[in-house]
Amino acid sequence: MRRFSYARPATAAAAVRALADGGPGTRLLAGGTTLYDLMKLDIETPAALIDVSRLRELSAFDTGGPRELVFGAMAHMSDVAADARLVRDYPAISESLWRAASQQLRNMATLGGNLLQRTRCAYFRGGDTFPCNKRRPGSGCSAIGGLDRGHAVLGGSSACIAVYPGDFAVALAAFDAQVDTLSSRGERTIPIESLHREPGTTPQIETTLAPDELILRIRVPVTPLGRGSTYLKIRDRESYAFALSSAAVALVLDDDIVRDARVALGGVATRPWRVRDAERSLVGRPLTDATARAAGDTALAGARPGRDNGFKIELGARTVAVALMIAKGRANQG
Ligand code: SF4
Repeated sequence: MRRFSYARPATAAAAVRALADGGPGTRLLAGGTTLYDLMKLDIETPAALIDVSRLRELSAFDTGGPRELVFGAMAHMSDVAADARLVRDYPAISESLWRAASQQLRNMATLGGNLLQRTRCAYFRGGDTFPCNKRRPGSGCSAIGGLDRGHAVLGGSSACIAVYPGDFAVALAAFDAQVDTLSSRGERTIPIESLHREPGTTPQIETTLAPDELILRIRVPVTPLGRGSTYLKIRDRESYAFALSSAAVALVLDDDIVRDARVALGGVATRPWRVRDAERSLVGRPLTDATARAAGDTALAGARPGRDNGFKIELGARTVAVALMIAKGRANQG
């Protein structure tokens, strides 16, 4: 058994101080639904845990503001997913939460922790038998040329092709969300699209957060795009599974002509993947099965298949097309 220390600071500021003072090997503990797994697998071996799960200042959320929705980083996924205004006005965000994990996990897991969940690549989790640059930098990537059915076709590198496993961040990317953080250097705001990194040559560095940085809250601008939105998640089974392909889409229509569009992909890329070319292909045109499918093809245009994951290119394009038609139905209901 590995020993570690445990502390539960009373404020976010104290948590950040403890994180900075603890140095490497100190980890924040939120809902624990990812971290405990990784500790049992000896992938995470923290010397110290800073428990932020009960920080009241980070657990509230407000979806009724005139300019933005505000979600504390320690709000639980299940509470936010069930929020009546979110369900009505931003169904893509609600769906991205309740389509993740299981109800038991959603009751424990936090929004901040969900954003930072780590890859489900089986080689990453499979122990030292398998070379993995994310777990042991420089050791190689077992997935490249190996069993890559679940891996990324967008955003990969010669060092890593692991898929970003989350759903919520994909929906947030479609809505231009921002993340407020706190570190020993003060507060800053990060656009959600800049939070997660592509693997490049350093796949072990997954986000742009500093080691001593804590996510405080997530903010989503109020927008008419919310009503005409959906998060469509395609997976091997309909519950408690990660996406093979997903799409967060949102539309504003005027007599079936697209006035504004958002398209973001999950399950196929190494980070939440916003596709502005696909959005531009829709604006000013009627939304039909043909234009929706063309937008899907555009969204996957840069995809590079590996050994077993080439099906994700067609699946991803179809996911976008179907999601757009669902969003169209919602947008037309006003
Ligand atoms: Fe490791 Fe990434 Fe390769 Fe998976 S895809 S084995 S996480 S380097």
